[in-house]
Amino acid sequence: MEVMECQSCGMPMECEEDHADCDVTQEFCKYCMVKGEFTIKNREEMKRQLALKYEETFNITSDEAMKRAEDTLSRLKRWRESE
Ligand SMILES: [Zn+2]
Repeated sequence: MEVMECQSCGMPMECEEDHADCDVTQEFCKYCMVKGEFTIKNREEMKRQLALKYEETFNITSDEAMKRAEDTLSRLKRWRESE
């Protein structure tokens, strides 16, 4: 089965528990959506969070991390539809 990625932050959801409400039909991960509400309200905030994570994970500069975060957000449904 193909691994779904969270349509808010791009995290691969590899098991049921990674999905919001442990519901495999949910397009968002348990970090982005809690009790039916987004934990992160806007794109800028999401991008900042993601960039920080990338910076740590891949050991890259913050500029590079921001670029990667932008790439990720631009292909995710949540952010495409709102623009
Ligand atoms: Zn997410």
